[in-house]
Amino acid sequence: MSAAPSPKTVGLIGAGGIMGKPMALNLLKAGHTVNVWNRTQSAADEVVAAGATFMSSPAEVCAASDVTFVMVTTPEVALSVAEQAAPGLSAGKGYVDVSTVDAGTSNKIAELVRARGAEFLEAPVSGSKKPAEDGALIFLCAGDEGLYTKCKEPLETMGKAHFFLGNVGQGAKMKLVVNMVMGSMMGAFAEGLALSEKSDLDPETLLQVISLGAIATPMYAMKGPGMIKGNFPPAFPLKHQQKDMRLALALADELAQEMPVAAAANELYKRARRDGCDDEDFSAVMKAVKKI
Ligand code: NAP
Repeated sequence: MSAAPSPKTVGLIGAGGIMGKPMALNLLKAGHTVNVWNRTQSAADEVVAAGATFMSSPAEVCAASDVTFVMVTTPEVALSVAEQAAPGLSAGKGYVDVSTVDAGTSNKIAELVRARGAEFLEAPVSGSKKPAEDGALIFLCAGDEGLYTKCKEPLETMGKAHFFLGNVGQGAKMKLVVNMVMGSMMGAFAEGLALSEKSDLDPETLLQVISLGAIATPMYAMKGPGMIKGNFPPAFPLKHQQKDMRLALALADELAQEMPVAAAANELYKRARRDGCDDEDFSAVMKAVKKI
């Protein structure tokens, strides 16, 4: 049996975002014809300069593309974009939402897409700005398996791994579990750095000690130096991390799973948001830890 043909023309909605931009640039580099839309057109200038075509609406992107990827902020925005995109979808086309949303929203988007006769895949990503630039994202896919098979080539262009997890919602849930763990780890790390400072320990030495032991992670090595200096350039905006904590806690509520550690970490992110850290990196949770 021959493999499913790869999409020739790929759409990317949200091509001006932290994640959407490098994803579009990698698709272009790999030789795809790329159609884009972004709410703020100027944010997609770099992608257009690299060869993408800017379309006037999400529906136009879908109408002109075999498969359209969507990378936007919240469940509300992802649903609204899907409503705007739906008129451009028809049988034979694919719609792949790679934003981080809850399973309920993903199912609503799937309904909109399938009602047009098109196929749907949710494919939220693990990995941040740098992995997006390096084409090293991890895609957590679920939905129409035929579309997953068709999307192998673009997924491999933008990522280093992809999983197929079953029915719509399973990819969204996997992503929320991963980010809930990450958010709790970052909260504990920030507390450790703050405690080391108060204890007259050198935080740089703490980083070295951590890097040599069983709790070493690339995240601590990457974020630690900036956290010590008070630099938080956004790779993963704090408002998105708090959104993911909130969605993971809502999932845990539905399933009556206790999550005392994640719930406490969520309070730190809420505090940081109240203090105006929305658009800083999520490692700026350090500021909330220091103030409490
Ligand atoms: P971002 O830089 O804030 O960009 C998000 C995109 O959403 C932009 O294109 C933005 O358009 C668009 N958008 C926002 N509100 C909109 C609206 N009302 N209508 C239409 N478009 C709208 O976010 P990001 O960091 O790329 O994250 C995107 C998604 O990926 C989020 O769900 C996030 O949780 C997830 N994620 C992020 C990372 C990361 O490290 N950054 C990693 C994994 C997953 P404008 O340019 O007009 O604002």
